[in-house]
Amino acid sequence: MNPCTLNQLGVTRETPWAVGHFNIHNQEFIRAVVRAAEAERSPAILAVGMMSVKYMGLEPLISACQSISRETSVPIAVHLDHARDIDIVREALELGINSVMFDGSSLDFEENVEKTTNVVEMAHDCGATAEGEIGIVPHGTESVSQAQMTNPALAIEFAERTGVDFLAVSLGSVHGMKSAAASLDQSLLQQLHEQIPVPLVLHGASGVIDEQISLAIEHGIRKINVNTGLKVVLKSFLSNRFKEDSESDLLQDLDLGMEAVSESVARRMRLFNSSNQA
Ligand SMILES: [Zn+2]
Repeated sequence: MNPCTLNQLGVTRETPWAVGHFNIHNQEFIRAVVRAAEAERSPAILAVGMMSVKYMGLEPLISACQSISRETSVPIAVHLDHARDIDIVREALELGINSVMFDGSSLDFEENVEKTTNVVEMAHDCGATAEGEIGIVPHGTESVSQAQMTNPALAIEFAERTGVDFLAVSLGSVHGMKSAAASLDQSLLQQLHEQIPVPLVLHGASGVIDEQISLAIEHGIRKINVNTGLKVVLKSFLSNRFKEDSESDLLQDLDLGMEAVSESVARRMRLFNSSNQA
């Protein structure tokens, strides 16, 4: 079926499950996520990030997501991840993307409100959904400082003024962690979920331990972003495979690699309680 918006995936502020957002970088990743969604009967988000746009191009990535989504009967949303530039948001919406995230988290509060509001209006005019971010989820080896965590009063004001459909918050996770070690501030999350009328988003989930993910769903997280963990799975699978059999056929290697990614996606869908929600 045609890809849909975040609001059409079945997940709401009230559901006891979260939808997985999986960053895709090429056709192999897209097929791996869609296969897992079919096997688990789970909705899923195919997320197009800026590094992948650099790698493959915006139009080729979006159109591959759209055409592969149309082959399946589970609800799939195509979503632009971490746009910091209004022009790329506009271009993605013109290409028919279903959802966009504007990341103004590094801007001062008023500028973040102003630019995110603009993106929300553009998205809604195109029948798409929009995600904003308040608080900072850092990258790499940095850990999260208290000042980077989401401030509840600012988050409420941000959600009200911008009209975002989904709101990304900073609770202790870090982008780009290659293994799961981080814990989250669950009491901050409970407070945010009680006070904010839209579903909350967790970024950097590859670095968060499973128990903390389950608790976060209990406490109000409804969209969970996974990127690095899937790249790690494919890279380690392929590097082992090449070591074991340097004469193997590359397409077969990639196909098996996709299967490994797909299993990792399916495991997360079960962890997020999104299996059988499609
Ligand atoms: Zn992120």
